[in-house]
Amino acid sequence: MPWPDTDGAVFRLIKQEIERQSTSIRLIASENFASPAVLAATGSVLTNKYSEGYPGRRYYGGNKIVDKIEDLARQRACTLFEADHANVQPHAGAIANMCVYQAFLKPGDTVLGMSLDHGGHLTHGSPVNFSGQHYRFVSYGVTDSDERIDLAQIEELAYEYHPKMIVLGATAYPRIIDTKPVREIADEVGAVLVFDAAHIAGLIAGGVHPNPTELADVVTFTTHKTLRGPRGGAIVCKSEHAKSIDKAMFPGIQGGPLEHVIAAKAVAFEEASSRLFATYAAQIVANSQALVSALADQGFRPVSGGTDNHLILIDLRTFDPDLTGKKAQSVLDDAGIVVNKNTIPNDSRSPFVASGIRIGTAAVTTQGMDADDMTVIADLIVRALRHQNDEQVAAKVRHEAQELCASRPPYPDLLKTL
Ligand SMILES: *Cc1c(COP(=O)(O)O)cnc(C)c1O
Repeated sequence: MPWPDTDGAVFRLIKQEIERQSTSIRLIASENFASPAVLAATGSVLTNKYSEGYPGRRYYGGNKIVDKIEDLARQRACTLFEADHANVQPHAGAIANMCVYQAFLKPGDTVLGMSLDHGGHLTHGSPVNFSGQHYRFVSYGVTDSDERIDLAQIEELAYEYHPKMIVLGATAYPRIIDTKPVREIADEVGAVLVFDAAHIAGLIAGGVHPNPTELADVVTFTTHKTLRGPRGGAIVCKSEHAKSIDKAMFPGIQGGPLEHVIAAKAVAFEEASSRLFATYAAQIVANSQALVSALADQGFRPVSGGTDNHLILIDLRTFDPDLTGKKAQSVLDDAGIVVNKNTIPNDSRSPFVASGIRIGTAAVTTQGMDADDMTVIADLIVRALRHQNDEQVAAKVRHEAQELCASRPPYPDLLKTL
C-alpha cells in the first residue's frame, strides 16, 4: 500500500515507527505484532460509521453491514472463549473493567483485587485510578515464600470484608492463575467473580492457560496483547449478566463503538481459533521458559522462580544490587532491546524506579523466534547490563540485536513501502 503524501509530518513518523518496530527486540509483555489483516480492518472505512447501540438496536440508520460485522465479532468471541455472551465494544481493557464495575457495583462498594506492586493492574483499585477512587478496594498479593497468589489471604480478606466482587487477573504475574479455589471463596461470601484476562487472553485461546469463562461470572480482556488483535477491550459473560453488561457499556460509559476496530477484533478472534495459533501460544511459553532459564543462569532472580506464561518478572538485585529497573530499561533501550521497569513483590523502590524488569515473549514469538534465539537475547541482555557504561558494548549489542531482527522481519511487505 503506498503511503499518502498529504501529510509528510505524520506519515514520516509512522514510517520511522515501522522501522523501529522492525529493528529492535520488542520484549514488552503487553505488546505484539498484529497481522496485516488486522491492520487492514483497523484502517478501513468502517471508521466513518456511527453505530451507537447494538446490532438490531441502533440509534442511527445505515447499520445493516456494521450489524453483521459486530455480530460476527460477538459470535467469534463466544466460540473462542466458550461463553454465552460477548460485548466487543470496549475501547480498551481499562474501559472493559470500568464497565464490569459499573454493572455490578455502587460507588463505595468493597472489592478484592490484586495489589499493584504484586502484579495487579491500575484498574484493580489503585488510588490514582477511578477504580480506587470510586470503590473501596482491598488488596491481596502473593506469598513471601513462593510468590504465588496468596489464596489464604484472599479467603481471610473475603471473610473480613465481605466484598461484593473479587477480581482475579494481573499485569505482571508469571504463573497460571487457578480460578477454582477463588470461585469457592466467592461463593462462600456471595461475591461476583471477575477474571481480568487482559494479558493472557491469547494463551487461553491457544489452550496453554485454563479458560476461566466457566468459573468466573465475567471475563474481561484486551485484544492487543497475547491475543494479537487490534488495540481494544472485550467482555464475555454468562447470559444472566448480558443485559447489565451491555447497558453499562452503552449508554452507561461509551458513545459510538469503533466498528473498524470491532471488525479487526473479529479477524483476530478467527486467527486465534486456528491450530497455527495454538502452536504459536505453546511457543510463546516455551520461549519465555528458555529465556528465564538462560537469565537465571547469569544470576538474575526470576520472581516466583520461573514462568508458566508469556512473561518473566526479573528481580535485578541478585545480578547487581545497585541496578534499578529504571536504569536497566534505559540501558537496554540504548542497546536495541525494549523492556519495561517493574516493581517486584514488596519492592523498596517506587514504581518509577523499581527493582525489576518485566519481559514478555509474545511479540518476538510472532516474528518466528525460537528457544535458540532466546539464548541469544539473554546473552545480549547480560552483556548490555554488565557493561552499562561502555558505549562500545552498547553499540555492538545494538548491532547484533538489529541483525537478529533483520533475520525475522515482522512486516516484510511494510518494509518495502518505506
Ligand atoms: C493491560 C491491562 C489492562 C488495561 O488494558 P488497556 O487496554 O491498556 O486499557 C487491564 N487489566 C490488566 C490486567 C492489564 O494487564
